[in-house]
Amino acid sequence: MFAKRFGTPVTVDSNTRLTALAEAIDGPDRVADLVYVRLSDGVDGGLVVGGQLVTGSAGLAGDLGHVTVEPAGRPCRCGKRGCLETVASVPGVLAACWEYGLPLEDLVDLAAAVSRAHPVVGRVLRESAAALGRVLGVAVMTLNPAKVVIGGEITRLAPVLVEQVAATLAAEALPTASAGTVVEAARLSEDDGAISALAAIFHKSGLASGGLA
Ligand SMILES: [Zn+2]
Repeated sequence: MFAKRFGTPVTVDSNTRLTALAEAIDGPDRVADLVYVRLSDGVDGGLVVGGQLVTGSAGLAGDLGHVTVEPAGRPCRCGKRGCLETVASVPGVLAACWEYGLPLEDLVDLAAAVSRAHPVVGRVLRESAAALGRVLGVAVMTLNPAKVVIGGEITRLAPVLVEQVAATLAAEALPTASAGTVVEAARLSEDDGAISALAAIFHKSGLASGGLA
């Protein structure tokens, strides 16, 4: 309807996947190959390969949240058990804190526990980072990206997670592969979906050759 009304091509995609593209093409150090993972209510992500957002045959490329990391782990909303999402999403981290005897209700509680360096939260986040690092190790060996970007509320609350993921990834992937891959926290938040969509449009039209101003 939009295309018909305004006589213009229309692109529809998820804010997470568009953020992956924006992270790749934003700023002076733009990269052609990037893996983006977002740790939020769930764990999702996107892939940029050869400067293009990859869709995959069923639109699931880069959706790493449902890779099994603990076969006997907590039930996941997808019907399986122990998906990455059950250990690295906000609900997953809160559930793990409860299991280790630290009842946290929400992100505010989690932020407070992180700020006072509660040992249970430290342990839970280390375990989340290790699981994420192992999954990303496979992605890095599959795609050999220039950059791995980790976004979402968990990363903003506990930036140290990015270093922990990088350490696991370095141990998991071939040294020559992981040494060439930069692991960093997302510059854009999920609130930047509109910026990401604009980035995607300019990128597609070739107008972003000078970067996003
Ligand atoms: Zn799942």
